[in-house]
Amino acid sequence: MTGSVKRIAVLGSTGSIGRSALDVVAASPGRFEVVGLAARRNARLLLEQASRFRVARVILTDSDIASGLSDSMPLEVGLDALTRLAADRDVDVVLNAVSGSAGLPPAFAAVSAGARMAIANKESLVAAGGLLKELATETGAEMIPVDSEHSAVYRCMRGMPRAEISGITLTASGGPLRDLAAGEAERATVGRVLEHPTWDMGPKVTVDSATLVNKALEVIEARWLFDIEFDRIDVVVHRESVVHSMVLLSDGSMMAHLGAPDMRVPIQYALSLPDAPAVEYEACDLAALGSLSFEELDESRYPCFGLVLGAAKTGGTAPAVAATADEVAVEAFLTGAIGFGDIARVIESTLNRVSVEPADCLDAVLEAECEARREAEEAVAGLA
Ligand code: NDP
Ligand code: MG
Repeated sequence: MTGSVKRIAVLGSTGSIGRSALDVVAASPGRFEVVGLAARRNARLLLEQASRFRVARVILTDSDIASGLSDSMPLEVGLDALTRLAADRDVDVVLNAVSGSAGLPPAFAAVSAGARMAIANKESLVAAGGLLKELATETGAEMIPVDSEHSAVYRCMRGMPRAEISGITLTASGGPLRDLAAGEAERATVGRVLEHPTWDMGPKVTVDSATLVNKALEVIEARWLFDIEFDRIDVVVHRESVVHSMVLLSDGSMMAHLGAPDMRVPIQYALSLPDAPAVEYEACDLAALGSLSFEELDESRYPCFGLVLGAAKTGGTAPAVAATADEVAVEAFLTGAIGFGDIARVIESTLNRVSVEPADCLDAVLEAECEARREAEEAVAGLA
């Protein structure tokens, strides 16, 4: 694959990561060919993208929306079509940029087929990281991180002997509510929560940044991507989002990866490997920044962080339950059904009500997600 045109499939092409990925493709003529695109509902943008990039396989998973479109639209419909595209061995790199738990079936399909998957969908690693990792060892599949922190760690670790690595420090911006008093944050409005100070992202991940669920999910993501125990992964608050993360070395020194907060950089890197990235995005001007700050994370301000990470340490299906409860709670918050402070209540009550089972096959994880969704919806109804 070195040096040749890479055939890529973008799952979740109409979202924030998907659109940035197509921006990377457009900026690097001759490097990539888009052979597949998939989205859930946004047919208009999906078809526009398909025509602009001359894409042969175009998938919409929402059958109700698809049935309202004219027959002349060359679309495949449904989740099966999405997993078939993820498993297609004519694709060099599958970018999994679907949001939420919907990213798990295609992640499983890609890894089962031994594919190279550029993985933005952290929820699949959270729900089934151990299973995906085991399966990848059997099939030879590769999971290349897209999340900026994990891309940074990957780049710092690349080529480094394992014995030299003693830990990982993930940076957290502190999210959109970082300067509010805890009581004020509890009552934050949707508009306020969606104003992220440093990153421009989709709504779910932006709300997750405000609760710091995002950082808990990222600790779990790092656990599986880099095969490193939880007690070797730290989080530090870094307001500027310039140091994307750090690797702690066995002699006490650190390697860090710095850059402007622009997701096109880690996306381009993951799609290009093993080739060097072609487009040079704007570098950050350190002198203009003046200083970089680091603070200890005050976990008492972010109850969801401890809840989700605690579930991950419990193991089995518990992290899948926590992540699903969060997904339901975030949807409910975004539609105005519950308040910001209720997100933690929904996660806690769901974790208390769903029993933990071994996460030893995909069905066990999907079943736990299903039960968690039911319980979380009930918790939302009780709060609304
Ligand atoms: P968005 O909400 O912006 O986009 C989500 C995409 O997934 C859309 O294309 C959506 O289609 C599609 N999608 C959702 N459900 C389905 C489904 N059932 N079948 C097919 N497609 C589906 O999300 P982001 O781009 O922000 O995030 C994507 C993933 O990347 C998340 O897991 C997130 O945590 C992760 N991530 C995002 C970052 C960012 O900067 N945005 C940074 C790091 C990680 P439609 O538009 O039709 O609904
Ligand atoms: Mg991140």
